[in-house]
Amino acid sequence: MPCVGDYVEFEPQSEGYGAIEDILPRKNQLVRPAVANIDSVILVVSADKPDIDFLLCDKLLIQADRMGIHPVLAINKTDLNKDNAYVINEQYSYYDTVYVSALEHHGIEDLEDVIRDRCVCLAGQSAVGKSSLVNALSEELQLKTGGLSKKSERGKHTTRQAELIYLKDLNAYIVDTPGFSMFDMGDLKKEELGQYYREFTEYAGECRFSSCMHDQEPECAVKSALEAGEISAERYDRYLKLLNLIGERKE
Ligand code: GDP
Ligand code: ZN
Repeated sequence: MPCVGDYVEFEPQSEGYGAIEDILPRKNQLVRPAVANIDSVILVVSADKPDIDFLLCDKLLIQADRMGIHPVLAINKTDLNKDNAYVINEQYSYYDTVYVSALEHHGIEDLEDVIRDRCVCLAGQSAVGKSSLVNALSEELQLKTGGLSKKSERGKHTTRQAELIYLKDLNAYIVDTPGFSMFDMGDLKKEELGQYYREFTEYAGECRFSSCMHDQEPECAVKSALEAGEISAERYDRYLKLLNLIGERKE
């Protein structure tokens, strides 16, 4: 079955008609929205209201990495609280971050740089400013669609087909449906979780046990780094929380 975002071999037949001969291999495929071949996910969070849901962010970042999708954190509403934007970034310094204000049109060029030549999906809690950012990216789009993201959010529990919006100036595609519900922990194993914490990886090789889950094991280099203040305690605490959640799911 073809999917939105597929690359296909297309054979033109008569004027305006043709046939899909082949669907090329997909590098990834999301379920909600149903799209294939996403290069990057823009995880939008707010520096003001609504308060950031850190656990949700962690999960989205993990799942993006698992699917081979490059995650970018876009901290929006910096016009309201710039200091908090920096506080948020302290926990995510291993990820690409852009500081933006959809309202004041700040940082939009930086966002454009991460979108250029890619196929991207926006994700994040409701009211963080996803639609506002899409509108800030394209004047043209607003004329054509008139509040498109709002419309698609309302329809998110229906089986409506996602669409790709082409941004000509950037040679990029944006999925018109935010992917807030597209990620779950899926079949992730407890032993694998640590691999997706980028700040752990430089220490993990030094743990006494190669199977170390950085929890109760002795001589754990990740815990030493934590005690030395080199790893965010908040991120680590949530790591343990997710580790437990995965454990409960298995039983
Ligand atoms: P979505 O649910 O993630 O698509 O969020 P919206 O784009 O609908 O934005 C939610 C609310 O936040 C709206 O009232 C927007 O006007 C407001 N908003 C969005 N971006 C900004 C921003 O950069 N600064 C400020 N102050 N408000 C914003
Ligand atoms: Zn360890």
